[in-house]
Amino acid sequence: MDNILNQPLRRLARKIRTNARWVLQVSWETCPGLISGLIIGKILNSAMPAALAWITRGLINAIVETSQQGLRDLTPIVPWLVYGLALVLINALLDFLTENLSRRLSDRMQVHMDMQTLEHSTRLDLSWLEDPDFQDIAQRAKQNTSGQIVGFLTEFFNLFSNSLKIIGIIIILFAIDPLIVLITVPTVLPYLWFKWRQSRARFTKEFRRATHRRWANYFSSVLTNRRYIPEIKLLRLAPLFLERYRELIRTFIDEDRHLHMRNLLGNFVFALVFSVFFYLLFARVAWLVLEGSLTVGDVAIFAGATKTLRDMLISLAGHVGKIMESTLFIENLIILLGIQPRICSGVGLTPERIRGRIEFRNVSFAYPGSRRTVLNNVSLTIEPGEIVALVGKNGAGKSTLVKLLCRLYDPVEGAILLDGIDLREISLDYLHQQIAVVFQQAAHFEASAADNIALGNWPGLSARRQVEEIGRLAQVDEMIRDMPDGYDTMLGRNFGEYDLSGGQWQRLVLARGLAKKDAPLLILDEPTRTLDAESEYQLFSEFDKIATGRTTLLISHRFTTINLARQIVVLDRGRVIETGTHQELLEKAGYYASYYELKERHRQLRGLMRL
Ligand code: ATP
Repeated sequence: MDNILNQPLRRLARKIRTNARWVLQVSWETCPGLISGLIIGKILNSAMPAALAWITRGLINAIVETSQQGLRDLTPIVPWLVYGLALVLINALLDFLTENLSRRLSDRMQVHMDMQTLEHSTRLDLSWLEDPDFQDIAQRAKQNTSGQIVGFLTEFFNLFSNSLKIIGIIIILFAIDPLIVLITVPTVLPYLWFKWRQSRARFTKEFRRATHRRWANYFSSVLTNRRYIPEIKLLRLAPLFLERYRELIRTFIDEDRHLHMRNLLGNFVFALVFSVFFYLLFARVAWLVLEGSLTVGDVAIFAGATKTLRDMLISLAGHVGKIMESTLFIENLIILLGIQPRICSGVGLTPERIRGRIEFRNVSFAYPGSRRTVLNNVSLTIEPGEIVALVGKNGAGKSTLVKLLCRLYDPVEGAILLDGIDLREISLDYLHQQIAVVFQQAAHFEASAADNIALGNWPGLSARRQVEEIGRLAQVDEMIRDMPDGYDTMLGRNFGEYDLSGGQWQRLVLARGLAKKDAPLLILDEPTRTLDAESEYQLFSEFDKIATGRTTLLISHRFTTINLARQIVVLDRGRVIETGTHQELLEKAGYYASYYELKERHRQLRGLMRL
């Protein structure tokens, strides 16, 4: 994409044509009726200036003729007045209709493109969202691209209509004196060239700004994000972030001002050159009238039509410039929409029943864009219905293993099998239906308490009775009933008045994870990290009910949680270093045993300190 800025003019022009065709095709497919109406309206509308010039000429000539004959009679003039009035009314009606159609087309296209971009983004892999280059692409595409499409369409139809109007006026001026056309039209070519350079400069600037724009967005979001505000206040970080934000914005403004000045200067020079030509031509037309080869009506037409032609050529150059600029910006959207998810459904198998046997076979993995291997030749089998705990230091690779099992990423080497089938061959939707998961960093949705649970199995779990049942299973029923509006309490402070503590959110998130009651795989990543002792106890007392018949993966640093598992798998720096039951691992006297001993010593030390 970077080379778009260095492309030779011919290639760039081809790109503009391709992009323009893309927009027109998408628009035609989306709203064919509106576009047809608009084309008809614009064609009719474009005949107006020429018709008006013709009527004005007729009117003036009728007045001159009548007065030369010494008549005091309006009869020869009246038809021209009626034509003029009718034309003005038709013009107003057409303006109203085309404006209305154009507005509706803009609205429809804006919604269509916004939806398409969002839908496409949600289909992309998580790894794209972690890729800075992709973030730049997305930033550029987000830069009001749907606005650019709407702008393109508006300008395109204006260009279409103006071109037709110009042809009409040129025919009239040509009939008066071909020299007028031969001089007026070429003067606009350098202006067109200038406008094109301006558009390219604006696009180049925005293109190169993507990363800086993201930084600016980041600083402004940090300054207004409620999760950051306590630290921003206490550490007095606001002036620092404000200054960084201001520096970026100031650079943008300086660059824009420079461009803006060049634009104004160009417009001024063009207006000056054109005016000089206009008055020279006026002198010639006046001479032709004095010679008797033109009428007074022709002078009126010349003055009016040349002025209109000048205005239209200027706006034509403006339309062309904006169209070129829009098509360059639209390139960003085309690039974004062209990116395809790598994680897809393969042959899309949907086995009739999943028993829940999981096998990691020689799995190695590095996060996309990172050279560091996070999982190294991991082999591991979990039998159906087994409860397994993944244990290891921070950064050992436990959560990564879970993300691979959910196919948020695919292994770089090896395979993960579910009931003997490679995950890559199973339909993605189907696979996700089989997994009930609570991630370490779970989402806190701005929604009611009931919906925060129901979203775990949407739309299957919409009845309040079912939601409450899950609430009871996850031991959050009492907590929710204590809220101001019970299950209807709106959570989060963006739209509601009530929020939860960290531990309360974790309990609710856990309930959401349990909403898929029939999923054969259950994954809980640090489910008890912020729970108080009572909540943890309540959860464990129900654990058999929750996990029975499901293959369960638990990730935890707490032995109270680890003890729920029959099998324990110890990971260290992306490798499986020990597996076995709690007792077996203690007897092995390896990493697990020393980790357990350390925790025990901590517990005893805390006990002693309390004495
Ligand atoms: P913890 O107990 O702290 O939750 P973990 O065992 O779950 O740790 P993972 O989250 O799997 O560890 O992380 C394993 C390694 O992968 C870490 O070294 C981390 O830096 C790296 N890592 C995790 N997520 C990403 C990511 N999205 N992109 C790049 N590297 C990542």
